Amino acid sequence: MSPLSHCSILIVDDVPTNIQVLAEALRQDHRVKVATNGPDALAIARTTLPDLILLDVMMPDMDGFEVCRQLKSDSVTQGIPVIFVTAKDDFRDEERGLNLGAVDYITKPFHLPVIRARVRNHLQLKQRADLLERMAHIDALTGIANRRRFDEALEIELRRCQREQEPISLLLLDIDYFKQYNDHFGHGMGDLCLVQVAGSLQHNAARAGDLVARYGGEEFAVVLPQTDRDAALQIAERLRERILALKLPHAPTSGLPFVSISIGLATVVPDANAAPIDLIEAADTMLYQAKSTGRNRVCA
Ligand code: GH3
Ligand code: MG
Ligand code: MG
Repeated sequence: MSPLSHCSILIVDDVPTNIQVLAEALRQDHRVKVATNGPDALAIARTTLPDLILLDVMMPDMDGFEVCRQLKSDSVTQGIPVIFVTAKDDFRDEERGLNLGAVDYITKPFHLPVIRARVRNHLQLKQRADLLERMAHIDALTGIANRRRFDEALEIELRRCQREQEPISLLLLDIDYFKQYNDHFGHGMGDLCLVQVAGSLQHNAARAGDLVARYGGEEFAVVLPQTDRDAALQIAERLRERILALKLPHAPTSGLPFVSISIGLATVVPDANAAPIDLIEAADTMLYQAKSTGRNRVCA
């Protein structure tokens, strides 16, 4: 079984016999869904996110060009490759389709082996694009969200909480005396320690909507949308205790028996002027306070 057999293809055509021909040719290699009009196609695309769409140009009411235009203007569906399939062999239509963002344009009469090969090629490109997209948002060492993902999520969640006039909380977490840990155990063990700390944070703060990210070096961040100060304080305390409970022996020079973290917490009900940087700076100030008042603690 090729990995492309998991890919799903949405075939859109108002003529059922056309769908049948294509579906039969593609069903051997992929999962196939069908729609016989534009609005249904848009709804299916939005809810099931197919890996590829074969789109008929001429359909009553909403034609393929309009379907493609709407797919490409919706952030949820704009990454789905579209191949136009048409009986019209007109280079102006082809130009229009490609300019709307379609990746390919196939005209009748169909040569099914050629269509299957083109579909396969586009699915392969789509898989690579998906992989790159995922990798761009993941920290290579720990496997949790990276700084880029954090920045995007904080911006989005801040705006959402502003619209709904809900509080949003941010935790900044930093490993205590991590330099000593590295100096004593070596950088490789330091990396392993980061992986274990990240895993614990992810495991213990993973309510839907929360985001645990590696903020930099040995600093982590947790975005807690729709979470007020008291609830965030509880979560922060739990995270701190869980890290301590890992009982990772610390370097003797640190004066600590086990690896611990300090946490700064900031909460805001965002107004129209609220910016991510303000929340970050507020949490960072609290983190500094947690450090200067003894470490292994939460400051809010
Ligand atoms: P504090 O309690 O004040 O936070 O002390 P600290 O020693 O943790 O703080 P400092 O910022 O001085 O040192 C951070 C250390 O984290 C220094 C750096 O070598 C280490 N570090 C940062 N990124 C990595 C990484 O990816 N792997 C490893 N092994 N160490 C890292
Ligand atoms: Mg540190
Ligand atoms: Mg640091």
